[in-house]
Amino acid sequence: MPPKRKSEYKPEYSKKFQGIRKGKDTFHAHCIPCNDEISLTSIGKHAITLHQKTSKHIQNARVINI
Ligand SMILES: [Zn+2]
Repeated sequence: MPPKRKSEYKPEYSKKFQGIRKGKDTFHAHCIPCNDEISLTSIGKHAITLHQKTSKHIQNARVINI
């Protein structure tokens, strides 16, 4: 089995996605309104897209008005 290539956080994500910063390491994004770490290792930035569609995130984002 060849090793899977891991997706890393890119600085452009903080511009592309509201409320997103670099996470605890290069393989995580941090969601500010949810105070959550989003793992990017398997599906990359798609994980952020999916996270931002969750009702939890939508609620949290609404509270801090971003
Ligand atoms: Zn969130």
